[in-house]
Amino acid sequence: MSDMFLHKCPNCNATLEFDIESGMVECSFCGSRFDVNSLKTEATVKPDGENKKKKKDKDKAEPKEFDWGSYKSGLKHEDLSGTVSYICETCGAEVILDATAASSKCSYCDNFLILSENVSAGLRPNGIIPFKILPKDLPRRVREFYKDKKLLPYNFFADNKLGSARGIYVPFWLYNCRMSGNVKLSGSTVTTRTDGSYRITETSVYDIDRDGEMEFERIPVDASIRMPDALMDSIEPFDYSQLVEFNSGYLTGFSADRFDSDPDENLPRVNERVRVSAENMILNSVSSYSSVSVQNNDLKMSDQSVKYVMLPVYLFECKYAGKTYSYAANGQTGKVVGDLPVSRGKSFLNFFIPFLVAAGIIAAVLFLLF
Ligand SMILES: [Zn+2]
Ligand SMILES: [Zn+2]
Repeated sequence: MSDMFLHKCPNCNATLEFDIESGMVECSFCGSRFDVNSLKTEATVKPDGENKKKKKDKDKAEPKEFDWGSYKSGLKHEDLSGTVSYICETCGAEVILDATAASSKCSYCDNFLILSENVSAGLRPNGIIPFKILPKDLPRRVREFYKDKKLLPYNFFADNKLGSARGIYVPFWLYNCRMSGNVKLSGSTVTTRTDGSYRITETSVYDIDRDGEMEFERIPVDASIRMPDALMDSIEPFDYSQLVEFNSGYLTGFSADRFDSDPDENLPRVNERVRVSAENMILNSVSSYSSVSVQNNDLKMSDQSVKYVMLPVYLFECKYAGKTYSYAANGQTGKVVGDLPVSRGKSFLNFFIPFLVAAGIIAAVLFLLF
C-alpha cells in the first residue's frame, strides 16, 4: 500500500477543495476558507507516529523540491506504466490508480486524495500556476473559439453537447538555456533607374555575419507521455508571472499527474524551438535590405537547466452527429484548442471562392487590354 492523505478542515474534519474564485481552499461541509499556504504539508499530516518519524529522517536526506540532477543520480529502476493501490483514508475503500497519479478523486466517496509519494520530498514540483478559469466559463470560451471557424457545419452550435470539463494539473518542464554562435545571412538590395529608353534594375547581394548570444527562459514542454504534445503546445502561452511555490493544497479538487517523460530526451525539441526563435530574432535585427535569407546557422545551446512545474488544463468533449471531439482549455487564460468537425459543403465553397476571384481578375485584365 502506498502513502496518500487528504487535506482536511481544521474545524470539522471534512475534506477541503481549492476554490478558484477566492484562490483559497474551502471546506465542502462547513464552508470555512483557508489560505493554501497555511495548510500542513504532506510530511506532517501523516496520522501514525512511526511513519512521521520515518518521513522526518527521509526529509533530511532528500532535497525539499525537485532537482533533475539529484533525482537522476538517485534513480534506480522506475516503472510508471502500471497501477498502484491506495486505501482511502475517508471511506476505507481500496482505490487503484495509475502509478503517475499525484491527485485523484476517490471513486467511492468523491473526496480528493493526494498521493504524497508523487508530489513530496524529491518529487515536489518547483512551482504551480493555480486554476483561474471557472468550469462554468468554458461554454462561453468555446463559443468564442468557434466564432471565426468558417468551416464548421451550420447546425453545430445548435446540436453540440459540451461534456463536463475535467480540471487537471499537467506536469511541464520549463527549460532555461543560452544560444550562442554565428549566423551567416545573405541580404540583397534592388535599385532601378532609367537611362534614356532603358530601365536598368541592379541587384546587389551582401554577405552578413552575425555573432550572437541570447538567453532563453521558461521554454515549456509537457512532461506527461499520455498528453498529446501538439495539443499541449497549442494551449500555450501561460503567464509565468503567476507561478507560485508548490503546495499540494492547490491540487485538492483536481486531478494531477507526476512527470513520466525524461527532460534530457526532450532537449532536441527544445533545441529546435530556440534555434528557430534565435534565427528569427537575428533576421528581424537586419534591416535596409529588400530581402534577407539564412545561409548558415551555427548557434549552439549551452547552460541548459530545467524546472518542474504543474500547469492548469481543462479537458472536455463535444458530441456532434454521433462523433466525439476532444478539446483542451488553458486553465489560466481560457484559451480553447481542439479538433473541429469540417462541413463538406463549406470546405468546397472555401476552395472555390479564391479561384473564382482569381478568374475574375484575369477577366478584368483581359478586358483592359482589349
Ligand atoms: Zn469544515
Ligand atoms: Zn474514499
